[in-house]
Amino acid sequence: MSIASGKTASGPKRRICVVGAGFAGCVVARELADAGCWVSLIDRRLHIGGNAYDETDAQGVLIHTYGPHIFHTNAERISLYLSRFTQWRPYEHRVQAVVGGTNYPFPINRDTVNRLYGWDLDEAGVAAFFERVREPRDPVRSSEDVVLNSVGRDLYEKFFLNYTRKQWGLPPSELKAGVAARVPVRTNTDDRYFTDSFQAMPLHGYTRMFESMLDHPGITLQLGVDYADARGERGFDHIVYTGPIDSYFDRRFGPLPYRSLRFEHVHLPQERFQPVGTVNYPNDHEFTRITEFKHLTGQVHAGTSIVREYPHAEGEPYYPIPSDDNDALYERYRELAEAETGVTFVGRLAQYRYLNMDQVVGSALAAAKSLIER
Ligand code: FAD
Ligand code: UDP
Repeated sequence: MSIASGKTASGPKRRICVVGAGFAGCVVARELADAGCWVSLIDRRLHIGGNAYDETDAQGVLIHTYGPHIFHTNAERISLYLSRFTQWRPYEHRVQAVVGGTNYPFPINRDTVNRLYGWDLDEAGVAAFFERVREPRDPVRSSEDVVLNSVGRDLYEKFFLNYTRKQWGLPPSELKAGVAARVPVRTNTDDRYFTDSFQAMPLHGYTRMFESMLDHPGITLQLGVDYADARGERGFDHIVYTGPIDSYFDRRFGPLPYRSLRFEHVHLPQERFQPVGTVNYPNDHEFTRITEFKHLTGQVHAGTSIVREYPHAEGEPYYPIPSDDNDALYERYRELAEAETGVTFVGRLAQYRYLNMDQVVGSALAAAKSLIER
């Protein structure tokens, strides 16, 4: 990796190396370039966008290579920021879960309860049912506590227990509350997966949005470059690192556990495969869920493309695993990171936090702002 040195009338520009071209790296790169820095952006993959990368498959269907990515946020400043680089297609994600061979709305809502048990409860009736079956927990520490505390054991075992075991390789009792707390429980009939004020997909896809973000004369992009091979490179005023934090420190305290996935992409010669964007399989199969991309993108095509997600312990790091032990190990790396001069750590892997895309954009904007103000 090399980057030319340069001077402007106002003096030498700051030269920044940004490692990783996902949401975190692209936002920081753009912000710093807009502020007048020279940015060298590298990624070990051969494409930009990180895990939000999308592409058209051999049949011409737009797919999310690393699993379904649905953009949603309550932070207007984040959606406005990204709107500089993309137009949007309004999209509200819907999910069903298959239990005993039947599809139910998920998150659990009034229709889920009524269809599962053959009842006709109104909203107050469902609330009273939850009140009767819930197993109160205080404090609510684990993901098991979260679900038992709100809907009781039967719904926990039917919808959460086995999905969570499959997804994480751990029972909900060993995962922090925040994991299951991502999924609400409703007494009304709202069957949307998210209720955020802004829910939309980039009109021409995520990759096009990232291309627009990186279209700046101050940014040089190099793909297929691993920081491990480039870290000896001198001449940068600062590094912004968005890869796994334990790798940066050569796993000095041991590896931080990340959960991986294998994605099985399939194209089918039929217009529709399933009724909603994602169908979850908590109790059947080795995969957790199937997503049909045309629901998300609105693309019109005679065929359709789906992806099945198979969780794995080994492989590309996709999910930090939220547990007390892992948080304690991360804390040791975070202390090293804080003492590391000239390097900023930002993003889902570098902060070891189960962050959604909008949260990563927020972190990246904050990191760039503090660098610019320095
Ligand atoms: P990443 O996207 O992981 O980017 C990091 C980049 O750094 C990668 O491209 C990697 O190749 C590169 N890198 C790492 N190490 C090195 C190195 N040593 N040298 C060079 N390059 C390196 N969020 C939502 O908001 N909505 C969703 O619907 C959603 N669905 C998801 C589904 C799945 C299956 C997964 C895994 C995540 C999902 N997310 C979703 C979360 C979303 O993917 C992340 O919030 C976001 O992509 C994180 O961006 P990032 O830049 O921090 O990390
Ligand atoms: N979950 C579950 N059953 C489901 C869907 C989710 O038990 O049908 C639990 C599971 O532990 C999962 C967590 O809720 O990891 C968060 O779900 P979400 O859909 O937010 O996961 P992501 O899209 O981030 O993989």
